[in-house]
Amino acid sequence: MAMEIPPFPRAEGDPIVKYPDPILRQVAEPVKRITPEIRQLVSLMRKAMLDANGIGLAAPQVGVSIRLLIYTDMSDENNPQVHALINPVILKMTGEQIEPPEGCLSLPGLIGNVRRAQTIWVKAVNLQGKTIKFKAEGLTARVIQHEVDHLDGILFIDRADPATLRWVTEEEKEKEREAVAVGK
Ligand SMILES: [Zn+2]
Repeated sequence: MAMEIPPFPRAEGDPIVKYPDPILRQVAEPVKRITPEIRQLVSLMRKAMLDANGIGLAAPQVGVSIRLLIYTDMSDENNPQVHALINPVILKMTGEQIEPPEGCLSLPGLIGNVRRAQTIWVKAVNLQGKTIKFKAEGLTARVIQHEVDHLDGILFIDRADPATLRWVTEEEKEKEREAVAVGK
């Protein structure tokens, strides 16, 4: 790897596990039943993700090694929707995308280019316990691929082109803050 990756400090009260916490390297266990605890965990994850201005989060990132993730569907950019997926499986992938650079709430501030499929077909169970199959494209497909990787202990730094790994600049951080301020 071209860049030495340091441990990331975790502020008191921050629910998101940071690299190199070993839970991020575990293969997560399948969810057997959708209990009230699972629903509570989804609410906690949703709040943690939105507070951190993220667009996806996997259960191991809040310290629970189970096959559960949330992601923001951005196919309608005026109406982004957060969904939970239980035991997700990517059935098929086609095409390729490289931009935009990817980051991770467990390695805040670090970004890099990751080659991902442009279009994916996903099978999962939703919070109502129903098996669903759907197609996702572009940024939404990128987020789901990133979060499913978390369930297998894989991080974006494993897949990123090492030459592109870098820290976000103050200017980029400022732009993001502005975007958030206007209600991105
Ligand atoms: Zn991540």
